[in-house]
Amino acid sequence: MIYLLYTGGTFGMDHQDPANPNSPLSAQPFSQLLPKMPLFTFVQTIHKHDRELKVFDYKTLKIHCDSLTKPVDSSDVTPHLWQEIANIIAKVYHDYVGFVIIHGTDTMAYSASALSFMLDGLDKPVIFTGSNVPLLGDKSDALANLKLAITSATSPEYTNNVWIAFNNQITLGNSSTKLGSDAGFTDFKRPHRFTKKVFVNEKFSALTNIEPSVTPIFVTPSLSSQAIRDILRSDNCHSFIFMTYGCGNYPTSEDYSAPIKEALDAGKIIANISQTSTGKAVKSLYQSSFSRLDDRILTLQHMTIETASAKLMWAKANLPADEIKNFMEEDQKGELA
Ligand code: ASP
Repeated sequence: MIYLLYTGGTFGMDHQDPANPNSPLSAQPFSQLLPKMPLFTFVQTIHKHDRELKVFDYKTLKIHCDSLTKPVDSSDVTPHLWQEIANIIAKVYHDYVGFVIIHGTDTMAYSASALSFMLDGLDKPVIFTGSNVPLLGDKSDALANLKLAITSATSPEYTNNVWIAFNNQITLGNSSTKLGSDAGFTDFKRPHRFTKKVFVNEKFSALTNIEPSVTPIFVTPSLSSQAIRDILRSDNCHSFIFMTYGCGNYPTSEDYSAPIKEALDAGKIIANISQTSTGKAVKSLYQSSFSRLDDRILTLQHMTIETASAKLMWAKANLPADEIKNFMEEDQKGELA
């Protein structure tokens, strides 16, 4: 038996005014999608774990379909929604062999990353999928992606982690990046694709605490040292991920380094990743290495911004302050394998 959770995204969208193809797309209730899923044979509605589930036959499988009360465009997905999704999966975990989550592609890699840390000791596949064209639209990729996700959710190859099934490819959730608005995902920052058993299974548990905010800073020649100082001093921002040049480089002048030290002295957390597609932030190749500025900076190598932000939000909420640096710099769930 497979559990399928529909959260929204293009997969389940339709034009707000169905008669006007220029009206904006918005997420529709799951029930509206059913006529377009001929491969699924509706069996019955059941109630389990306080949830209403639609049971379908798909080939030899039973699929139990669930939906968020209000499906969303994934631009509206928040850390609170990650908690909700993780808690739902934890609740039904022992009843199913695998899990499929239909989700918008815009923030799918963030959600997949967050769930890879929230769901600990997984021994069943959790597979995200979505589509570029709505299921209800012409030439939709939705059904092909869904079939791939369902097949992967029954495969022993994908137990123990969270994955993205899209465009004939399976990528590791916590290393994936959305390639383009008309394309799929890549895990091009992950040197060893499909490494299995990348972490040791423990007993399954859901640790869904999450710090609601981490601030990304994309370094460019137009980013003034004064702007950096202002944002690092903000009372509302406590953790930062600097997306630095090349292999982790940053302007060398004192104007730029002083605000970093000041923020670290104030107890703020600063992490470093590379803004390049395939590069990684290393500790001290150049004099301009950001991580050379201070040992307290977290050097996160080839981690994606999606994963670095979700992992740091998770770490801040679940670990003592003195354990965060090691936790962040070491591979936990395959994200640095
Ligand atoms: N805006 C949509 C979303 O992320 C895009 C998609 O699903 O592909 O929900």
